[in-house]
Amino acid sequence: MINLETSNLLEKEIKELVIPADNVAHVQLGNSLEHALLVLIKSGYSAVPVLDTSYKIQGLISNTMIMDSILGIERIEYEKLSEHKVEEVMNTKIPRMKNSDTFFRALELSINHPFVCIEDEAGVFVGILTRRSILALVYRYFRGVLGK
Ligand code: AMP
Repeated sequence: MINLETSNLLEKEIKELVIPADNVAHVQLGNSLEHALLVLIKSGYSAVPVLDTSYKIQGLISNTMIMDSILGIERIEYEKLSEHKVEEVMNTKIPRMKNSDTFFRALELSINHPFVCIEDEAGVFVGILTRRSILALVYRYFRGVLGK
């Protein structure tokens, strides 16, 4: 049986867990793969969101996607980094959430996604929700339940 406290946690809005857009490293449509790789390496993240010029979410790009796209048969074709754009390589099939969505939905998405992009009603990027912040909340909840 689910008690009231658990139900409150699962129905809680994700708003307060979201890392705001201003603190999220991202790239834009039209950026070269070279620029994206620099952002990824400098930020230390393995994947970041891709936005358009109106700040709407278009997808995400990762180190692996970029490296895979420049793999030749016998060598890594580094020159392609400046010739190709983010939109040729990014993954556009990504889950999105809104600030008003529930923690339960975020928990489900975090099984397969290290982070989920949050958008407003107009599709404008609001921030991201990471698996780390979801796990931290689950941990705090169980610590409370166990009285530790
Ligand atoms: P974490 O759970 O903190 O390890 O974050 C999971 C993933 O979310 C990272 O590997 C990044 O792809 C992404 N991420 C987390 N924080 C940021 C940030 N400030 N800017 C861009 N991407 C981030």
